[in-house]
Parts: sequence; C-alpha cells; structure tokens
Amino acid sequence: MTTWGYTKGNGPHTWLETFPAAKGNLQSPIDISTADCINASDDDQPLKIRLSFSKIRNVVNTGYGFRVDVDSEDSELSGGPLQNKYRVEQFHFHWGRDDKTGSEHTIDGVAFPSEVHLVHWNAEKYASFSEAASKDDGLAVLGVLIQVGEKHEEMSKLIDLLPNIRFKGDKTSFDGEFDLSTLLPDMREYWTYPGSLTTPPCSENVAWIVFKQPIEFSSDQLTVFRDLCSYCECDQCPDDEFGGQIVDNFRPPLPIGDRVVRECKF
Ligand SMILES: [Zn+2]
Repeated sequence: MTTWGYTKGNGPHTWLETFPAAKGNLQSPIDISTADCINASDDDQPLKIRLSFSKIRNVVNTGYGFRVDVDSEDSELSGGPLQNKYRVEQFHFHWGRDDKTGSEHTIDGVAFPSEVHLVHWNAEKYASFSEAASKDDGLAVLGVLIQVGEKHEEMSKLIDLLPNIRFKGDKTSFDGEFDLSTLLPDMREYWTYPGSLTTPPCSENVAWIVFKQPIEFSSDQLTVFRDLCSYCECDQCPDDEFGGQIVDNFRPPLPIGDRVVRECKF
C-alpha cells in the first residue's frame, strides 16, 4: 500500500499518480493575491458561524498530522458562499519544520507558521460526513492562519495530549469540552473561493473560507506539533529527510486558474 505524505518520496508532486483529482483546475491551497480579490456584493448573505464548546471524540495521529474529531451537532456554518447549512466534523493543522513556513494558503506570497482547518459538511442535504465528502456541494472548510505570539490557552488542553499520540495510528480521548470559537480570529473578514481538499484524494468540492486575521500560538506550542512521528510505533523510523517527524505537512499553492477570490466583510 502506498502511503502519501510530504517527503521527497511521497510528497504532493507524487499524489497526481494515485489521486487523479489532484490534476484538476480547482485545487487548493492557493496564494491569495490581495490586489486581485473582488469585493463581495451587498446582496451576499452574511456568513453565520455557530461554534462553541464541543465534545471531542478523538485526537488521532494520522501519520501526516493530527486530527481532532468533534461531536458538534449544534454547530452551524451557513450564509456567505454557502447555499445550505454545514456542520463541523473535525479540525486539523498544517505546520512547518520551523516558524518560517507551515501554512497552506499564502497571502501575497507570504506563508504563516501554521494553519488550522475546520472541516464542515453539508448536513442539510446529506446524512453524514462520508456521504457529503463525495458530493459537489458537500464540504466547506474554515481556514485560519496562525502566527507566533501569545500562548493559546484553550489549545493547550489538546497540545498537552500530543505526547500520548506520538506515533501514527495512536488515538486518545479528551474528557471535557473544547471551545472551538477560540480557533477563530476576532475580526471576521474573510476570503472565499471554490477549491479542493489539500490532502488526497484532493476532491474539488470544498467552499473555502479563509480568514484575513491570523490567530496566535506560542512558538513552544508549535514545537510540540513537530515531536509527532509519521510512522507506527511498531515500525522502524523511516530514513527520510524529516527523520520520521511530522513537519512541513503543507501542500504548496496551486494555480488559481480562472477562479476569483472574493473578499467579504462580516
Ligand atoms: Zn488541512
């Protein structure tokens, strides 16, 4: 079985062979060129986001990052570019080997040290995340850029668990609730464009909503991300350029093509 990842041997340039959607014209991430964005019209519906304290089902080391599965039936994402109501399923991060790179979206060519993706699915039309994941209007992702600054207190609850899921396939539970709203910036202006999953299968069915204002994590918090391993505890550490650590787990920007990015105020 081939395992995709971010090394020279299994990184984004190799995904095209196994995942044909990755060759498409609506791929993500992109570089957002702020001078080329168009302003949303006054007729657009305001974006509505309801995210708050949620139960966490699992925190999982996927081998290419870690995923936080959320139990959040009462969450809602609607309006803005969306025709239906979407519900959050999971969130995960992308990060660099140091604090210089790590985000997937870049802004006028500039990368941030990390980016969080809050993955939502169309719960009005489909019965489950897995059903929605294959549909044209199935997914919407909130992307939030992360810069180095203050320690993120709420996120510390989850970062403290990461040493328990050091290896690929490791999973832990989290008792208590996590306030998802702390992953959103105070200022809710955003860019939106039609795109894809940034990881295989790279399906082109994602309405992207990327916030203009970054949130902050401390440098120490990002360092803990980099201690995660891309291999199973039962396997040998792979002989790759990352020494088996999960770092630089971001896909470089893809051509925007004919798409336009709309700039929206709340
Ligand atoms: Zn992602």
